[in-house]
Amino acid sequence: MGRGQMVAEQWAGISEELRSEIGESNHRNWIAPLECLGVQDGVAQFRAPSRFVGDWVKRTYHDQIFAHLRSVASDVARLEFIVGEAPRPRATPEIVIAKTLPADELQGAPLDGKYNFDNFVVGKPNELAHAAARRVAEGGPVTFNPLFLYGGVGLGKTHLMHAIVWELREKRPDLQVLYLSAEQFMYRFVQALRDREIMDFKNLFRSVDMLMVDDVQFIAGKESTQEEFFHTFNALVDQNKQIIISADRAPGEIKDLEARISSRMQCGLVVDLHPTNYELRLGILQRKAAQFMHTYGSVKIDDGVFEFLAHKITTNVRVLEGALQRLFAFSSLIGQEVTMEMVQDCLSDILRSSDRRVTVEEIQRRVAEHFNIRLSDMLGPKRTRTIARPRQIAMYLAKEMTSRSLPEIGRRFGGRDHTTILHGVRKVEEMRGTDSQLNEDIELLRRLLES
Ligand code: ADP
Ligand code: MG
Repeated sequence: MGRGQMVAEQWAGISEELRSEIGESNHRNWIAPLECLGVQDGVAQFRAPSRFVGDWVKRTYHDQIFAHLRSVASDVARLEFIVGEAPRPRATPEIVIAKTLPADELQGAPLDGKYNFDNFVVGKPNELAHAAARRVAEGGPVTFNPLFLYGGVGLGKTHLMHAIVWELREKRPDLQVLYLSAEQFMYRFVQALRDREIMDFKNLFRSVDMLMVDDVQFIAGKESTQEEFFHTFNALVDQNKQIIISADRAPGEIKDLEARISSRMQCGLVVDLHPTNYELRLGILQRKAAQFMHTYGSVKIDDGVFEFLAHKITTNVRVLEGALQRLFAFSSLIGQEVTMEMVQDCLSDILRSSDRRVTVEEIQRRVAEHFNIRLSDMLGPKRTRTIARPRQIAMYLAKEMTSRSLPEIGRRFGGRDHTTILHGVRKVEEMRGTDSQLNEDIELLRRLLES
């Protein structure tokens, strides 16, 4: 008890030190409202005026507070923030906080330092997305709103978004930029609802100069989160504040996303990141290798290794990067250069699974065979059920098993429109819920195609 009391008293001193470390306004907004309740069983307890404040403090200042406390009380093992039952003026301090927050306080999700523009390799498949990201990163007048970036996993959406934030911090430190995933948006929204702090939530999100929401497909089907997002979105657009959104597919293709939201998202600039090509993959490998040299020291890599990898691992940049990292780790561990032999040994699992890549054409052929129809009919215009159903199944498998976009798949189905493909895919998804024969057919086909 005595000791706990002492810490509570010393807190005043720590709080002063924090003031000089984090600045007057941060201190006023975040540290001053905390009440130190003392230490018990190694836990230093603080009362925060709201869960909202408690969470921000925990996320942003945890380490700093902890370090100070440890220097006066070495028995402190962790910090705990409880929300105040103590009487407090139910005024609106957080609303003011939201307005006076400096840019970096608003950082929603941790940023990866490596995800900057310097480390982003530009090639044909991503040049538009890159150019658009560069443009908004200048922080000039808003020209397209929102910027909607979409593309398959591992194609660099998150990388570009982080790069925008880094760039803006340099160029426009006055701007309040908030980056977070759609999942975090939902989490905070639900938390605010639960804690009856929805006004704080609204004010925070409406007070930023730029809002970036990653992987927005996540909120599809989550009705009240979508609703709130829609209002936030509109409020910011009305104030001419830049919004940047990413998703794994085009706005109109996100299932269970309200039509009014998807149509508003298409009002700005929609750009997609295309699947990588060979040159881009080669460029990325070279860039990443240079980065890894910092971590693992200089590693010698035989000629042809990069070319081989760029040729073989085509699905996802993350996998490509993982493969390279493994080679570096292995090579530095055994003190040998990276040879083609080592590549085969060390990456056999990755190489095997990339060998099994399926093409739309193979899918069409297998499905036609399975249902005993002609390939030409599968691609042609006939609409009889015996042809149309297998065709839709092939569309569905093409969407599921390849990284082709809907327009690309459409082109391979005799030049059909992407909406036709989408319709086919949805139809099959829907039928899978009730039709067990269909499910069996699909699973059988999938196994055939994968083997
Ligand atoms: P997404 O968010 O689209 O799923 P990420 O941005 O997380 O993809 O990218 C996955 C990984 O691939 C990251 O490590 C990223 O740095 C890397 N990457 C993707 N595209 C590029 C690129 N053009 N240049 C450099 N690295 C890239
Ligand atoms: Mg991402």
